[in-house]
Amino acid sequence: MDHFTYKNGHLHAEDVAIADIAASVGTPFYVYSTATLTRHYRLFTDALTPLPHQVCFAIKSLSNVAVLKTLGDLGAGMDVVSVGEYMRAKAAGVPGERIVFSGVGKTRAEMRVALEGGIRQFNVESEPELRALSEVATSLGLVAPITIRVNPDVDAKTHEKISTGKKGDKFGIPISRASAVYAEAASLPGLDVVGIDVHIGSQLTDLAPFEQAYLMVADLTRQLRAEGHDIRRLDLGGGLGIPYTRSNEAPPLPTDYGALIKRTVGDLGCEIEIEPGRLISGNAGLLVAGVIYLKHGEGRNFLILDAAMNDLVRPAMYGAHHDIIPVVEPVPGVEPQSFDIVGPVCESGDTFAKGRAMAPVAEGDLVAFRSAGAYGAVMASEYNTRPLIPEVLVKADQFAVIRERPTFDEILKRDTIPAWL
Ligand SMILES: *Cc1c(COP(=O)(O)O)cnc(C)c1O
Repeated sequence: MDHFTYKNGHLHAEDVAIADIAASVGTPFYVYSTATLTRHYRLFTDALTPLPHQVCFAIKSLSNVAVLKTLGDLGAGMDVVSVGEYMRAKAAGVPGERIVFSGVGKTRAEMRVALEGGIRQFNVESEPELRALSEVATSLGLVAPITIRVNPDVDAKTHEKISTGKKGDKFGIPISRASAVYAEAASLPGLDVVGIDVHIGSQLTDLAPFEQAYLMVADLTRQLRAEGHDIRRLDLGGGLGIPYTRSNEAPPLPTDYGALIKRTVGDLGCEIEIEPGRLISGNAGLLVAGVIYLKHGEGRNFLILDAAMNDLVRPAMYGAHHDIIPVVEPVPGVEPQSFDIVGPVCESGDTFAKGRAMAPVAEGDLVAFRSAGAYGAVMASEYNTRPLIPEVLVKADQFAVIRERPTFDEILKRDTIPAWL
């Protein structure tokens, strides 16, 4: 459920007309709903109650500081995968004790910043990282709380580019080696082993792989405890999928997911962490674009938008589907037409949808991509020297630009011409 609905024939974000935002900031732009973000965050906290828990929002899905502050003020922790994301979490006022640091390639410099600024835990992904973190923490006279990310070798049954828990993926250590790696961790100075971490992939639409992985984590918890480790925290990762179409998809709900967590690891007395990104942010955002041209090709109608693959790369990168709807509600009974919906970038891959049935739209009309909050703005680039597009946050009847569109002067200023030219 989200808070983007037609009211009096016009698409709204909560109580704000999308057309009013477009008139004020120009297209294309991203718009997020505070009510949807809040609702989705609470679904998780409710689903995990009464277990002791911390929901850590995966910043990589949507990293605007205003969004992070919206969630942080509700009590959310943050899952970061770079020092830049760590600094975003801090800028949003999230205390270090609520920030977990994931990722396979943390540098010593990144470790230092997080240790000095405060951190809930590092999710360590390899033995070399373990040794590096031990050295950095010791040199600072600090102790790094850690979990070790185990790879349970389960098939997440999702897109191959976002599957992370299979043997052969670059993530974590094989669960079969956990005993040896935990023993090494316990022997190293400057580390405090607090728990276990697992994250098997993104956009999972079936709970079975989670169940498989979490049962293995439960077994591992008992085993590591028997080997003398004080396992008191389980980070179960993110990855719960969302519906990208209104019609046929029905991915599992956070309540089902919470029940699964209670069933598999709920009796271990551990504090539970989860790291959802997409489920909180995905359906909390729209990408709004204007129609530049309607071009009739051979047997095809091209809808050429002012948004492109550099603004929203998911269709080009993952073959992902986004529902695309007109901002003015189609009158009932109008005959849909078939459109190839494309952007202006000079690549055939800059195609959002082929043969998409949609109510007729005309040049100058506005359309909205649904489910664009996650892995949208964060993956944008300036390819074709197209400025990064603005982000807007709505709360009830208010809206604010939370990231401005850069001017071409600002973009050009970042390039410098060497003295010899
Ligand atoms: C990407 C990622 C997440 C979030 O995944 P979603 O599918 O957006 O919920 C959580 N944890 C880690 C370690 C990740 O890499």
